[in-house]
Amino acid sequence: MPSRLSDELSPFYVMEVLERAKEIEADGEKVVHFEVGEPDFQTPQVIADEAINSIRNGDTKYTHSLGIPELRRAVSKNYFENYGVNIDPKRIVITTGSSPALYLSIISLINPGDEVIITDPHYACYPQIIKIAGGVPKTFRIYEEEGFQINIDRLKEIISSRTKAILINSPANPTGAVLKPDVMEEIAGLGIHIISDEIYHGLVYNGEVKTIFEFSDSAFAVNGFSKFYSMTGWRLGYLIAPEEFIRPIQKLQQNLFISPNSFVQRAGVAALKEAKADALQMAEKFNDRRKVMISGLKSLGFGITSEPEGAFYVFVDAGKINPNSHELAFDILERAHVAVTPGIDFGEGGEGYLRFSYATSITDIQEGIKRIGDYIKNKGVSL
Ligand code: PMP
Repeated sequence: MPSRLSDELSPFYVMEVLERAKEIEADGEKVVHFEVGEPDFQTPQVIADEAINSIRNGDTKYTHSLGIPELRRAVSKNYFENYGVNIDPKRIVITTGSSPALYLSIISLINPGDEVIITDPHYACYPQIIKIAGGVPKTFRIYEEEGFQINIDRLKEIISSRTKAILINSPANPTGAVLKPDVMEEIAGLGIHIISDEIYHGLVYNGEVKTIFEFSDSAFAVNGFSKFYSMTGWRLGYLIAPEEFIRPIQKLQQNLFISPNSFVQRAGVAALKEAKADALQMAEKFNDRRKVMISGLKSLGFGITSEPEGAFYVFVDAGKINPNSHELAFDILERAHVAVTPGIDFGEGGEGYLRFSYATSITDIQEGIKRIGDYIKNKGVSL
């Protein structure tokens, strides 16, 4: 029998959408992909070259469990250049993607039964990771009418003596919302631990994004190379933690993962030192696509009350077509051959919504919008 824990974890419905989309494609049909949560661009060449050279040079062994010093220093320098904050490289732990960094931060922080607060909707894996670590996810709603910002009063209502930490994400998946600096400041003043998922930093199209370290010295931050540098398959990320947590995290890393990948870390150094211009070019393309996606969805009648300012997602209320987002996503896939992510993947607060990713070409965005327009017309729904 599988363990109760593994048996009870929720599936990630978007993967089921993707799998069905692949079957449709195998029958020779074209599917437009708005479900994917990864950049469609190639990893910049200078990063790939560094990895290949490192392998050729024999850099294929375990590294220090906390990561190679060059990369820890480069991450520190990057935070200083981007935000003017001083992070001692000793506080930086390199990981195989930001997902392990999330897990390490939570498991180093909580005891069984401790509560970790997250927004609803939220990134699909958060409650699962909290549960795997023995914690209890506590959600509070955020609303489109409020720009999917965190309402501090609503947040305070669910803080209890069992609350250990809050996990925030800005820019956010699935909403694309960027937290306002005054909201971050208030969260930093609540006296609970903060884990800030900063994986979409760099992909911000209006104004500025702040790191949690502009408001707190004692926070945890999770970040990585998957999104901004288009390196999802490389599995490279990092965790910044308070100094007193580093030794415990090191022991967890040694036992769970031994060390991050050697030559991939070298490539990470190249990314931070040499690929910023390439990454910014990709971000500019995302912004162009964002505008096409938003205006296309609006032209179909979808009400988008607050335009997403970061990441590469638009989270749209489609409840008038069908309030069951799972059913709706599969119906759109079967009839219109457009793959979208059902909002329920992101919690009860996402039900009735669909997440449209614009990590695809402008031609495909236009084609997908046209197909969804025809689908809505055929349904006879007016939005
Ligand atoms: N956090 C968020 C909010 C994400 O959207 C993702 C990827 N979809 C991750 C973390 C994990 O990214 P990775 O493990 O590839 O670094």
